[in-house]
Amino acid sequence: MILEVNELTQLFPKKQGAASDQIQLGSVMTDSRKTAKQSLFVPIVGENFDAHDFLGDAIKQGAVATLWQEDQPLPKLTPTDFPVFFVEDTTKALQQLASYYLKKVDPVVVGVTGSNGKTTTKDLAASVLQVKYKTHKTAGNFNNHIGLPLTVLAMDPETEAVVLEMGMDRAGEISVLSKLAEPSYAIITNIGESHIENLGSREGIAGAKLEITEGLSEEGALILDGDEPLLQEQNSKNWTVTCGFGDELDYQAEILQLTDESSTFKVGEQSFELPMAGKHNVKNATYVIALAERLGLSPQEIQQGFQQLQMSAMRFEKHEGHKGSLIINDAYNASPTSMKAIIEVVSQLTSKSRKVLILGDMFELGEQSEKLHQSVADAIDEKIHAVYTIGEYSKTISDAVDKQYPSIETHHFTEKQTLSHHVRKNLTADTVVLIKASRGMKLEELLENLVD
Ligand code: ATP
Ligand code: MG
Repeated sequence: MILEVNELTQLFPKKQGAASDQIQLGSVMTDSRKTAKQSLFVPIVGENFDAHDFLGDAIKQGAVATLWQEDQPLPKLTPTDFPVFFVEDTTKALQQLASYYLKKVDPVVVGVTGSNGKTTTKDLAASVLQVKYKTHKTAGNFNNHIGLPLTVLAMDPETEAVVLEMGMDRAGEISVLSKLAEPSYAIITNIGESHIENLGSREGIAGAKLEITEGLSEEGALILDGDEPLLQEQNSKNWTVTCGFGDELDYQAEILQLTDESSTFKVGEQSFELPMAGKHNVKNATYVIALAERLGLSPQEIQQGFQQLQMSAMRFEKHEGHKGSLIINDAYNASPTSMKAIIEVVSQLTSKSRKVLILGDMFELGEQSEKLHQSVADAIDEKIHAVYTIGEYSKTISDAVDKQYPSIETHHFTEKQTLSHHVRKNLTADTVVLIKASRGMKLEELLENLVD
């Protein structure tokens, strides 16, 4: 970010402090534990902390101006002419500042939402757009009402395209993000069951994802999962672009080959190769093809972008395990749809024949939690050797598997230590282990015992 302090004066006119109008702001700091030279401190009031207490630290770490929430005690300042901008709410002011900066830099804005596949599609889209445009993207999973503005404010002033992941826990949140970012292109990757607890039903989830159209530019495009019945009433709208595997979609993928490392597929007459396993990733790629074509990239450029892909951590992260086994860490997060999708990938892996699944709890599924955990068994087949579960809810998965497939070894564990010990003991060069659960389960801790 590069803004001058006097630009802040226009946005936040209630100001205290000296004639520092020419000061250039290079970045925004919300965490005073990290150095950020020439930064604007934005003290956020959180549930457990209030960053207004840390202004002194922020100044030591490089802050040269600060926002200040009006209901907070006035800061004691040295130097006394330090610029302070008073606002009603620092979180809202952060969003306002991001919106201002976004309009100033004026890149093409792409918003990505959906129950599963947001981060993957965001990374893939950025990798492809990067071939032709100076592209910025959400770091990791920074996709909420604070992460998204911070992503925008971390953008270089020369940025030509920005890909923003938009996440939510409840209705109304995507609306805020979409109105802030005003995307020209919105992607809805899929409708699953995550956060059904807050949204009541899959229809409720679809409605919340469609809030992404609230800020979508009228000449823009809504690129979505054409295989999802709950999104079908969007088809009559001019801006809708349907993608997926079904018939009569605008971008219809035909799979040519799926291997452990890659997928080849055709869209129309054009073939593409994606350096990722999993049919669901082919679908994510169709969204990116639809987007990239609209931004003038040729099929060759799109293919080049696929090849350059760098994924965020803990999504299908491969490790060489004990005795030459393969450990796949996908413990970043989980929902029934994503768990089923990745089990299918592991089941189809050809490089290892002994397949072990370690599945943990999926959170925020509300009343349907038990049923949705049970439904994971539908994705399992006899190519799987063992299913181990851990946590409070996931026992229903091993119980369901046990019932449907008596030949598959199942066991429910209550401690990570015992679980990883048991799995390690039986590892062979021919074993692949998948680790998958909701973030809160922290199943990546198992890795330590499985990787030498
Ligand atoms: P989060 O809500 O945690 O930010 P996300 O939407 O960003 O999740 P990713 O991190 O990209 O999703 O992927 C999460 C999981 O979803 C992956 O494990 C992958 O197996 C699965 N997945 C990815 N794309 C799809 C898709 N289009 N449909 C269903 N499942 C998918
Ligand atoms: Mg994500």
